[in-house]
Amino acid sequence: EYAEISLKDIDQVAKRSFPLCMHHLFEKLREDHHLKYGGRMQLGLFLKGVGLKLDDALAFWKAEFSIKVGPERFDKEYAYSIRHSFGKEGKRVDYTPYSCQKVISSTPGVGDHHGCPYRHFSEENLRASLSKMGVSNRAMEDVMEKVRNKHYQLACTLTFEAIHGSSCDSGINHPNQYFAESRKILL
Ligand code: SF4
Repeated sequence: EYAEISLKDIDQVAKRSFPLCMHHLFEKLREDHHLKYGGRMQLGLFLKGVGLKLDDALAFWKAEFSIKVGPERFDKEYAYSIRHSFGKEGKRVDYTPYSCQKVISSTPGVGDHHGCPYRHFSEENLRASLSKMGVSNRAMEDVMEKVRNKHYQLACTLTFEAIHGSSCDSGINHPNQYFAESRKILL
């Protein structure tokens, strides 16, 4: 039901329409050419949910991981789990993308980049990220107030509204819903 995205414009789409949790993983992957398991799952299933096909997904991950571990090691150690998450291996379960609740309740450790930035970032990092996304100082204070009250999804909803200049009455409850709402406005 989500619009398909192709590899050639994925960077632009990520910048404009990914929620912060996914944009952060996306940027880290581009920067480090690697993500630990929790990040691979969170971003990988999200990308599947936005319509990235298996072949494109394999090409996308391979291009990054090959820089770090080489193409052979990618094929041996990482390709399987990508096919697996698409239901093409093992028990052939077609895994669904994580909801906000699941992302928020995850427990990222050192070196992990998954989780919900509204919950898991330091205030300083969160402010820097929001300002990079184009959130104004005034909207930022409203977002931070929601964060202080542990209303992470409301903080994300306010961010969405600030960036898109448009209200989001349903609120944000799923990263893929954030994406779909954004595409509705921007396309
Ligand atoms: Fe991602 Fe949901 Fe957190 Fe927004 S509230 S950053 S969509 S997990």
